[in-house]
Amino acid sequence: MRMSEIGFTTAFAIKMKVTAIQQKEKGKMELGNLALKKIEELKREGYKSAEDKLKAEYRKGEIQLEEDEFLKDDLPYCKKCGGKRYYIIEPYMAVPTTCKCQQEEKEK
Ligand SMILES: [Zn+2]
Repeated sequence: MRMSEIGFTTAFAIKMKVTAIQQKEKGKMELGNLALKKIEELKREGYKSAEDKLKAEYRKGEIQLEEDEFLKDDLPYCKKCGGKRYYIIEPYMAVPTTCKCQQEEKEK
């Protein structure tokens, strides 16, 4: 390989790497922007976080408890196994989850 070819290959490799990093950063930024947007939304509605909003909705009865659920610290739990029915993943994200007995029921 001639010197100029090596130079070209190295430059190309560096360029590809930079592109990959830029794309990864872009993905992170988009995720970050989405998070910021969600948090902005929550704040506009007067909540500090998704957990805060969820708790308020349960407290006000805007979300009804299922017959087999009870509230603890304003969040729903399963009466049978005591498992959580909600997970707070991020300050801006709360997702429903299944407790142990719901999972067992599903697997049947
Ligand atoms: Zn359960």
